Amino acid sequence: MHDILILGGGPAGLTAAIYATRACRDTLVIAEQVGGAASIAHRIDNYSALPKINGYDLTAKMYDQSVSLGAKHKSDKIVKITASGSTKVVETESGIFEGRSLILALGSRYRKIGLDGEDELLGSGISYCATCDGNFFKRRTVAVVGGGDTALSDALFLSKIATKVILIHRRNEFRASASLVSALQNSGVEVVYDSIVEKLQGNPLSAIIVRNLKTGCVINYQIDGLFVAIGSDPCVDLIKEEIALTDSKYIITDRHMRTNIPGVYAAGDIRDTPLRQIITACADGAIAAETASSDLK
Ligand SMILES: Cc1cc2nc3c(=O)[nH]c(=O)nc-3n(C[C@H](O)[C@H](O)[C@H](O)COP(=O)(O)OP(=O)(O)OC[C@H]3O[C@@H](n4cnc5c(N)ncnc54)[C@H](O)[C@@H]3O)c2cc1C
Repeated sequence: MHDILILGGGPAGLTAAIYATRACRDTLVIAEQVGGAASIAHRIDNYSALPKINGYDLTAKMYDQSVSLGAKHKSDKIVKITASGSTKVVETESGIFEGRSLILALGSRYRKIGLDGEDELLGSGISYCATCDGNFFKRRTVAVVGGGDTALSDALFLSKIATKVILIHRRNEFRASASLVSALQNSGVEVVYDSIVEKLQGNPLSAIIVRNLKTGCVINYQIDGLFVAIGSDPCVDLIKEEIALTDSKYIITDRHMRTNIPGVYAAGDIRDTPLRQIITACADGAIAAETASSDLK
């Protein structure tokens, strides 16, 4: 029986492990991929005091720090979570683990457009996060795919950095809030309605082929970057029956990271939060571990 089981080994889980072990709690982190989503970031420019670090090095430092403080780690896939009782039970592919409390830090997954070459172009022209990578496209031409709040916010954000922004949307009206749609009008963003990206060209990415779904007409756009903003899916499948979620399936917490289930906390990208970044995931992890530790008293 561990004091705190931390599910997920990205920035949120690893920082939670640092705080939980420093609070003298017996802590086990269970994760499939140490470092999580952050570990595949080619270059991180917005984590305080560590400019130009790559994601692998940054998360390896977090992992090493947690181990040096006494956190235990289990590299495994979680297949079942039973969180409602006073003992929290987590089943993985290789065993069963019990804890007095549980921190959910399983992250979320960006949706992909599903085109050939998309994975290879990550960091070479394709991005899923304008806040993370927008600055690398100063005075360049970029396209954004999507029609919701994220896509429009990304296009508006990028319009202040890039020379030209093209917004490609498969319908003829946006799902985004009225204020974002109205802000788009005077932003200089070129909007391409009723269209999808059909092909990626070059490595690094240099052009996209865009097809108009109504006319069948095809246009080749020369671009330097493509921002895919068609949503993300929080990793809540193993717990969604028990826990309170938003309509978009993010876990609802209070400001201490408590969920609706006693002894269960959530941190990082899996949580309903206005900003999903490494630094905010770390902050969530710290708060979740402090709360879990003090609730155990
Ligand atoms: C390519 C890329 C570039 C990025 N660049 C930046 C950047 O420059 N700056 C920035 O601040 N943010 C960046 N981000 C966003 C940042 O990586 C995330 O906000 C951050 O990693 C969220 O941390 P997290 O711990 O909440 O989740 P994650 O990092 O997603 O970690 C989730 C953890 O849960 C584990 N997990 C999930 N399901 C299971 C399961 N069933 N069994 C076992 N383990 C499981 C995973 O293996 C992983 O360890 C980038 C993201 C990507 C993908």
